[in-house]
Amino acid sequence: MTAPQRPVCIELMAPLAGVMVPLETVPDPVFAQKMVGDGVSIDPTSDELLSPLHGKVTQLHRAGHALTITGDSGLEVLLHIGLDTVLLRGEGFAPLVSEGDTVATGQPLIRFDPVVVGAKAVSLLTQMVIANGELVTRYVPAKGLVTAGKDAALSVELAGGVVEQETIGATGAILSDEVTLPNPAGLHARPAAVFASGAKQYKSDIRLLRGSDSANAKSVVSIMGLATKLGDRVRVQATGPDAGEAAGTLARLLAEGSGEKPGDAPEAAAAAPVAEPGVARRTASGDIDELTGVSASPGLAVGHIVQFRQEVIDVREAGESPQRERARLESARHEARQQIEALKATLTDPSKAQILDAHLELLEDPDLNDMALGSISDGKSAGFAWRNGFQKQASTLEKLDNPLLRERAGDIRDVGRRVLALLAGVTQAQIEVPADSILIAEELSPSDTASLDRSKVLGFCTTTGGATSHVAILARSLGIPAICGIDEGALQLANGTLVVLDGSLGSLRRNPGAEDLEKAHERIRRQTAKREEQDLAASKLAMTADGHCIEVVANIRNAQEAREAVAAGAEGVGLLRSEFLFDDRDTAPSEDEQAAEYCAVAEALGRERPLVIRTLDAGGDKPLSYMPLPKEDNPFLGLRGVRVSLDRPDIFRTQLRAILRAAPIGNLHVMFPMVAAIEEVRAARKILLEEAGDRADSVKVGVMIEVPAAALIAEQLAREVDFFSIGTNDLTQYTLAMDRGHPKLAKKADALHPAVLRLIGMTVEGAHMHGKWVGVCGGIASDAMAVPVLAGLGVDELSVSIPAVGSVKAQLARVTMDEARKLAADVLRLGTAAEVRALLAPYAE
Ligand code: PEP
Ligand code: MG
Repeated sequence: MTAPQRPVCIELMAPLAGVMVPLETVPDPVFAQKMVGDGVSIDPTSDELLSPLHGKVTQLHRAGHALTITGDSGLEVLLHIGLDTVLLRGEGFAPLVSEGDTVATGQPLIRFDPVVVGAKAVSLLTQMVIANGELVTRYVPAKGLVTAGKDAALSVELAGGVVEQETIGATGAILSDEVTLPNPAGLHARPAAVFASGAKQYKSDIRLLRGSDSANAKSVVSIMGLATKLGDRVRVQATGPDAGEAAGTLARLLAEGSGEKPGDAPEAAAAAPVAEPGVARRTASGDIDELTGVSASPGLAVGHIVQFRQEVIDVREAGESPQRERARLESARHEARQQIEALKATLTDPSKAQILDAHLELLEDPDLNDMALGSISDGKSAGFAWRNGFQKQASTLEKLDNPLLRERAGDIRDVGRRVLALLAGVTQAQIEVPADSILIAEELSPSDTASLDRSKVLGFCTTTGGATSHVAILARSLGIPAICGIDEGALQLANGTLVVLDGSLGSLRRNPGAEDLEKAHERIRRQTAKREEQDLAASKLAMTADGHCIEVVANIRNAQEAREAVAAGAEGVGLLRSEFLFDDRDTAPSEDEQAAEYCAVAEALGRERPLVIRTLDAGGDKPLSYMPLPKEDNPFLGLRGVRVSLDRPDIFRTQLRAILRAAPIGNLHVMFPMVAAIEEVRAARKILLEEAGDRADSVKVGVMIEVPAAALIAEQLAREVDFFSIGTNDLTQYTLAMDRGHPKLAKKADALHPAVLRLIGMTVEGAHMHGKWVGVCGGIASDAMAVPVLAGLGVDELSVSIPAVGSVKAQLARVTMDEARKLAADVLRLGTAAEVRALLAPYAE
């Protein structure tokens, strides 16, 4: 029995910006009566005709006013600019393509002069019609205003199976809605792996489409090869028995970040605070005893060189029978999988174990395996075929512009070598080294790094790789000082040479003199002492050197983290990001589910420690799959934070009821995010009070100061609420007009910009006039360097990441309030974030 054929849906992008006009109303019977074909007309506001689909220019009129694009599906789309424009004989038209050209969706086809054409032609109305309408079973034209190349102007359904193309199988292709990628660094290895593994749950053939580019959605490497970026618009195309479900579910997965939470740092941003990822800190000393590279993992080590070289693995080219070679490959991959699983079990940090999950995914990569199986069928040995396959894929990635994706070539080589070694019968032994070793290698695989014996390896340097490589991430996780991209001269250092490795500066000093060694040991002692000081401070009440108390509390997501925060010395919770209860699911959490989590957090903290629960901060960069919000050009300026809650009072009220259930067991504070206007606070508070009824006194109400407007009216806002918490992450992006997730700008969006500091100062002033307290819960509160300034500006509470609790408390204990106030006054006189940082350098950790 054959499966019923599904229709194939093709969306044709608007070739021009403008207003959609029904074809029937066009003042030309040829079009109005659909003699040329059915379709749409656009009254244009732009002057460059863009291709509505990927295809070939199969006809370009000599007069340059019309052309036909034939899509991959065989659909013939005729585009005709204006009415009777053929009479202009080319005047005012400049074709940008030729017949036979292949064009991408959105590619400019014809530029025209609207003044010339408009003056001489009957009308500028531009038609897009399907010339071979027999393929089409349904036309769905868009209405209203459309943007060229962005909005679909016409969707057509083709009868399944009528069109036989390789992308459209017997059951028809289902195309998902367009998704805007929320991942700050696009679909790099880990989100790509999550997405590919989601795709593999389905039998259908699944492609990830971006414009005319397409990738096998089950192949991590193919996905990474698309080199997607934040904000790229993509679709899922599924062909097969479960295509409908696959396209919908996978599109949602993409919209939710493919396992990457909004605001999660991609690998690059996970660098240690002292190291600016990817920036070589080369000294200009010209000192021949100093070799420099990129800081990959901070810390200092004194030890002896051990050179490590990867063994070259030889394989025969010719295979035995293809069946035998296939079986060999299969068994080597199976064994490699077991090895990686075993290695993974030794890693305690789950985010680092994910790196090995990505390796497992690469092992199953269908493109890589297809390539290898193809070579085996051509008579090659399994080893030869596999090596060619993974090397080819690694070099494809190495050629990409995106450094993050380039670094993934190392992961492919790592997995590739593991299987190759098994095929060649070579044992890849764990790196054996004597005590106090500093390892030098051209390249260390992530697997080598993860299995280093930390008690013997004090640090390592590689001549390849950068701060974003998985090797560097693992080194940071294991706390091993490391340098990547070091001068090749390091490979010539004799085994046993005494060296000082400074992972923070990216420098390796050989033949250190007695003085160098003394200094290094002194620094190591100081670092150890600092760690101990922080551990001690963490256990005490936070206060400045002169006894002024500033609460140090934590930013958390759930009850587990509440327990970790208390153990780390946090005096409460200044920000419970409740949206983490809401994402990664198909329906909103019920009141009971939410109440259980809030109560568990309150219980973990006890009645004394404050608990600030932020109401749902969805929208903008934090989409929720079950709460479709309208598409927006500027989501950060749209329905976000409290605006979403006010727009969806049902969800808001449920959450408030759940929060209020935790009031009897905790020191409860409710906080509304992204407030810009007093009316929003009043509306939200009113709903809260309605839900609270006679329990209204059991909870304090506050707002986040994340929008400059809120800081500027802090005094007036302070009359309405009990407290403020400054979200410097958003306050900085809105003040500097720099997207906090922007791959290039995010680094410049520095909360130590004097403009942001002034707004913090104004907020404190406004709040204190009414006796209200102010916290800071954005990332800057966790930066020890910023702590004295925030104290000096009068901030009452610092809500920090759990690992920063000790260092922030220790920093507070080092300064008096007089020093802090003077420092705050000094930085407010400066003009740039760099100047502020320079002034605060002595306070850097
Ligand atoms: C902030 O904006 O600083 C903040 C703490 O909120 P989030 O990072 O969750 O947007
Ligand atoms: Mg925020």
